Amino acid sequence: MKKRKRTYNVRLIKDDYSYYIEQIADLLGNDVATVRRWVREEGLERIPNTRPHIVHSSKLKAFINKQKERRKKPCAIHEIFCLRCQSPRIPLAGSATVIPLPNGCISIKAICSECGGKMNRSIRGAEWIKSHPLAIYLSDASGEHKSVQLTHHECSLHKEENNV
Ligand SMILES: [Zn+2]
Repeated sequence: MKKRKRTYNVRLIKDDYSYYIEQIADLLGNDVATVRRWVREEGLERIPNTRPHIVHSSKLKAFINKQKERRKKPCAIHEIFCLRCQSPRIPLAGSATVIPLPNGCISIKAICSECGGKMNRSIRGAEWIKSHPLAIYLSDASGEHKSVQLTHHECSLHKEENNV
């Protein structure tokens, strides 16, 4: 199933305004969970020490614009998007960990080999096998542990990738 790529209208965002997470979700017409994930994992800056979280409109605009940029630079199969470089980068050897997500995808977290920043990529569980190009960046321990659980997900999609 193909995930729809959403585009958001930056012009809806007011200047110099502070938004609650719920307000952002309303404004952009997406899930509160998605906006929370932006804050938690994708680098949307909130105003420090706010609970519930508050995001300033300037940060929200910057984030949406970055997101657009990001889509113009898709990761190669052996790369992960680095939040600090704002670009796809090769992970540092041994820095990657694999975390299976409840939705059947897996999240790969690693350290950028260029800047040492955090990188994060989710791929479908079905694409994840021991010989995946990103598997070579796993630390030994996590590679052993996770691959046992995930190898049986091999599917036709991966075979296509190998032929490229
Ligand atoms: Zn980086």
